[in-house]
Amino acid sequence: MSNDNYDGFADIINGNSGIFGTDVSSMENGLTAFDSAKTIPKPQGVFVEMHCRQCGNPVRITVEWGEIVAIRYNVAPQLAYRGTRGFVNDVTDWGFSAEQQAWIPKNTCQRCTSICAPGFKPEEAEQHLAVGRRNRWFSPQWEQQAATRCSQMVQQAQSVSR
Ligand SMILES: [Zn+2]
Repeated sequence: MSNDNYDGFADIINGNSGIFGTDVSSMENGLTAFDSAKTIPKPQGVFVEMHCRQCGNPVRITVEWGEIVAIRYNVAPQLAYRGTRGFVNDVTDWGFSAEQQAWIPKNTCQRCTSICAPGFKPEEAEQHLAVGRRNRWFSPQWEQQAATRCSQMVQQAQSVSR
């Protein structure tokens, strides 16, 4: 798919001297490369706890399961579920970082306002979903509906870019 829509966001990330500024090479393994980032799967989504690399402020984010499904299908959650109910409660704007090959929620540190968020790769999203399925935190029907919605978005994006 084309990620042209997210150029503005990518600029913000690339121009930021915070978590993505100097040690991009250490990010190759995505989320696991964050020395201080912890991910804890929970019934309502994947809880992420990390520290702002700019100021050290603790940052806590819950990525909802609906958002994880969209990342799995490589689509922006805020586009995939636009105009729908029941997939996400409070959707965050996500942008795709071509450099990281990962989706990043547009979350800013509450203290220093630099962008502070983990990157999620589609294959990592699938690993998280496997945990959610095992724990029956969402139904197969719900995941199927969310997946259908997301794969439709992928097809639309591909047909536009053709
Ligand atoms: Zn900060």
